[in-house]
Amino acid sequence: MAEPTPVLPEVLSQIRALPVSERPLVICDVDEVILHLTTHLEDYLHARELMFLKHEYRFTGNIAHNKDKTAISSEEVRRHLLTFFDEVSHAQDMVPGANIALGELSETWDIVLLTNLPGGQNKPKREKLLAELGIPFPVLTNSGPKGGAVSALAAGRPNPVIFIDDSPTNHTSVNASLPSAVQIQFIADPRFRETVEQEDHIDLLTGDWQETAAYIGRIL
Ligand SMILES: [Mg+2]
Repeated sequence: MAEPTPVLPEVLSQIRALPVSERPLVICDVDEVILHLTTHLEDYLHARELMFLKHEYRFTGNIAHNKDKTAISSEEVRRHLLTFFDEVSHAQDMVPGANIALGELSETWDIVLLTNLPGGQNKPKREKLLAELGIPFPVLTNSGPKGGAVSALAAGRPNPVIFIDDSPTNHTSVNASLPSAVQIQFIADPRFRETVEQEDHIDLLTGDWQETAAYIGRIL
């Protein structure tokens, strides 16, 4: 069982800058949920003769050289992810239906996008891309597990708050910090989705925005 994590000061200041609202809240991740990530990352890796060993939710130990399948170090993984986000943040493809589903939901719910995006300079690129795709909701950048940020965002909002994210780590963290949250594990890539076991705290495991919008629509 994970321990609740505190919200980071730099995230709390972004939360405090949001307009005050008592509407119900959907907190939604970006990578692999609204924007494709793994397909772009695979292209990036292939161009450098690197590959995923398994379609698993793990970077360190799971990214390796094509030639001999030896995994690269955690430091190299970190460096590649920084370069990767610098290169693709302005041009990631949208997961089909994300803009329509979020637009419909925004009639009833406030939508806040909570993303662990490396590189401060990439946030404006991401905001511009999302706005161009018709997804004009506030973007908050976090780092590390999201439980603290989700719990802080939920203050003053009606129950339940909805949390949508692909990462098992973030869902474990949210379950520890805000167990009342409705947790939707959305993984766009079917190969990665198939390797995930639905845990007890996950209310819906999906890669489909229509299904997600219909599920949330039945909650209120
Ligand atoms: Mg994600």
